[in-house]
Amino acid sequence: MTARGHPCDLLVIGAGPAGLTAARAAAALGAKVALVERRQLGGIRLNEGCIPSKTIIRSAQLYAEMRNAENFGVAPPAQMPVDFAAVMARMQRVRDRISRVHSASRLAADGIDLHFGHARFVGPDAIDVDGTLLRFRKALIATGSRALLPEIAGLAEAGYLTNETVFDLNVLPPSLLVIGGGPLGCELAQAFARFGTRTLIAHSEPLFLPKEERDAAQMVSDALARDGVEIHLNCTVVGVRLEGGRKRVELFNDGNVSSTEVDEILTGIGRLPAVQDLDLEQAGVKYDAQAGIEVDDFLRSSNPRIYAAGDVCLEHKFTNTAEASAQIVVHNALFRGRQRMSALTVPWCTYTDPQVAHVGLYVRRARELNIPVKTFTVPMHDVDRAIVDGEENGFVKIHVREGTDRILGATIVGRHAGEMINTVSLAMVANIGLRRLAGVIHAYPTQGEAIRQAARACERTLTSSPARPSGVGLPR
Ligand SMILES: Cc1cc2nc3c(=O)[nH]c(=O)nc-3n(C[C@H](O)[C@H](O)[C@H](O)COP(=O)(O)OP(=O)(O)OC[C@H]3O[C@@H](n4cnc5c(N)ncnc54)[C@H](O)[C@@H]3O)c2cc1C
Repeated sequence: MTARGHPCDLLVIGAGPAGLTAARAAAALGAKVALVERRQLGGIRLNEGCIPSKTIIRSAQLYAEMRNAENFGVAPPAQMPVDFAAVMARMQRVRDRISRVHSASRLAADGIDLHFGHARFVGPDAIDVDGTLLRFRKALIATGSRALLPEIAGLAEAGYLTNETVFDLNVLPPSLLVIGGGPLGCELAQAFARFGTRTLIAHSEPLFLPKEERDAAQMVSDALARDGVEIHLNCTVVGVRLEGGRKRVELFNDGNVSSTEVDEILTGIGRLPAVQDLDLEQAGVKYDAQAGIEVDDFLRSSNPRIYAAGDVCLEHKFTNTAEASAQIVVHNALFRGRQRMSALTVPWCTYTDPQVAHVGLYVRRARELNIPVKTFTVPMHDVDRAIVDGEENGFVKIHVREGTDRILGATIVGRHAGEMINTVSLAMVANIGLRRLAGVIHAYPTQGEAIRQAARACERTLTSSPARPSGVGLPR
């Protein structure tokens, strides 16, 4: 094993959103940083997650809109064959374009010492990267997550897709079974159905998106059904076998077993933290195969030199959470900071059509905590812009602490819910009460006005004087 120079200030394992954010932030602050990546720069977000999925979802949405053109008084194109190879080629172009931001040459220009190879701990302050020894003062484990695979008889032999392989397809499968009705399953089931694939989705629970509020999940279910997805709820896939080159699938529901044939199977039942093959025991880092690296609220592991961020240690596996946690680590590891993960306000969104976005507490969690909740709901069919755009499916629902206007959380279902939730996040982070949002003049007509309508409803329930419109006295 060859040893490389002096210990670095921060050694980062994994160049996904968490690792790249930490490496860049630490290098910008003058720290000596080494970054190790075993596959591609950019992690799941860029290569097998957010970017490829959102890019093909955009194309699928356009096909759906073209088919629906008549509803907007526009004659639909006479021919509308789906050019799936072109869709995937665009996805590749988008991926290439975004990857330039994180290229090896850019990282080198930022002063980051980049190593390609597999990192394993060989002690409490050192790792081995394919024969090179790297020592560190502080380290960040940002190795992300991998797909959790269902245990289904015959599945491995028949073959299946995961997020690691589905974006390599360049021929549209005529039929597809999606296993799992979480965000990944719902997003991709809808996209493939919109491309014209006969798509089935099997989910073991009574509603999709188990973490979301029930009415939001129901709207997604209705939307998938409208797009022609064959929905199998309370349903488990119990067996798969190859028959004449196709996959015969057995579905178990309510005591009955039914069967169908598909060309491809995509599994999306969840993700497991990438903790194997790191030799964490050598570094004294405690972990759990399901929950990942054990960290405290400051993201420090059982080895005080070593921190973790992103999917490898967090319950909420999102890019924005990974990046925010990485910032916390840089602060805490290099500057003896005391920033807490629990202090963050993190919104997220499922990019179905309509989208489902959430921030803060869910009502059921508030009840568990004995927090009295009052909810203000505005259906999108009461919002001018949503009517104009033919995007009336959805609602804005904002929860406040009863008797006050303190925002506890919000769920938004709508075509642009992911954009709209940011207003609520901003208000929560800046400690702005819902009532004050009633005084924020919104551009008209916009779907974001739904938030102001909810704020007005809140204002009406509180007894004191109405909030003054902001921006009234413009600077001279
Ligand atoms: C299909 C799909 C869609 C998604 N869509 C969204 C979305 O719309 N919005 C959102 O916020 N999130 C989304 N996510 C989740 C998001 O991609 C992840 O939360 C995010 O990528 C996590 O970042 P990370 O840095 O923790 O890990 P990763 O992105 O997994 O990066 C970890 C990196 O570490 C490397 N690595 C692992 N082990 C080692 C080792 N021993 N040595 C060296 N390198 C190693 C890996 O190769 C990888 O590059 C999606 C995920 C999937 C699968």
